[in-house]
Amino acid sequence: MAILIVGSLAFDDIETPFGRSDNTLGGSSTYIALSASYFTDKIQMVGVVGSDFEKQHFDLLHSRGIDTKGVQKIEEGKTFRWAGRYHYDMNTRDTLDTQLNVFADFDPVVPEPYRHAEFVCLGNIDPELQLKVLGQISKPKLVILDTMNFWIESKPEELKKTLQHVDIFILNDSEARLLSGDPNLVKSARIIREMGPKTLIIKKGEHGALLFTDNGIFVAPAFPLESIYDPTGAGDTFAGGFIGHLSRCETITDVEMRRAVLYGSAMASFCVEKFGTEKIASLDLLEIEDRYQSFRELSRIDE
Ligand code: AMP
Repeated sequence: MAILIVGSLAFDDIETPFGRSDNTLGGSSTYIALSASYFTDKIQMVGVVGSDFEKQHFDLLHSRGIDTKGVQKIEEGKTFRWAGRYHYDMNTRDTLDTQLNVFADFDPVVPEPYRHAEFVCLGNIDPELQLKVLGQISKPKLVILDTMNFWIESKPEELKKTLQHVDIFILNDSEARLLSGDPNLVKSARIIREMGPKTLIIKKGEHGALLFTDNGIFVAPAFPLESIYDPTGAGDTFAGGFIGHLSRCETITDVEMRRAVLYGSAMASFCVEKFGTEKIASLDLLEIEDRYQSFRELSRIDE
């Protein structure tokens, strides 16, 4: 089933204790789309880029079968830019710079053929833009939203308004504390679910992810890796694997949701192994399935 993805397409400057990478292709929707592309061939992207977004960048997305007809190119502007520096433990990072550029005046228009997408993934961008996109889609089966501290701090009321139309909300632990105003994650989850989304996923970086539904809490580990080079995009890659798996399910049950969390975690574990999108642009289905199985083994006990 088709997945419509809206979010940032970006150039990132990334600094980790192991090196740096400038002008790297990134952005929330880039990571989500690449990751989801291993689960379905119907991925539709809505976004905006500037004149510095070249053919090679589009080619990379097309090589994974991603439809970019909904990505507007503004010749007079520059693509969104973000710069971040990771701390020694790689679990925390500082944003050094955010330049909205072409996103500042972006008025999203969802092309007619995309308006019937069953799955909608509102990746990290201005919550007002997320809502504008959603308003153009007729009766989606499932709406997922991801955000980050930048928007929680700068547009909390707009975000809360958008959340009322969302089924599944994904954010990380520090963002959950920030949005709920409570340091305890279980309480935070209750407070945030009362804002609208019935299902909530709190990502905890190298400590895995928590899934909160009406049926309880599911805890997934993160894959124990010896070499982590760059965590940028891991959260979005998680979201791509998560929605990707759900998009191929006949019915979305609690079991499928739990499986989707493990597929999301498997995809995120690949993402951090190389800088930028390098690794998740060149995976094969067998290694994804292998890692998914390894995830299942991680907390299995044979009685
Ligand atoms: P993640 O590491 O999953 O949180 O996502 C990192 C990606 O999000 C980077 O590639 C950035 O270009 C993008 N990003 C960072 N800040 C923002 C923002 N305020 N709005 C939209 N995208 C952003």
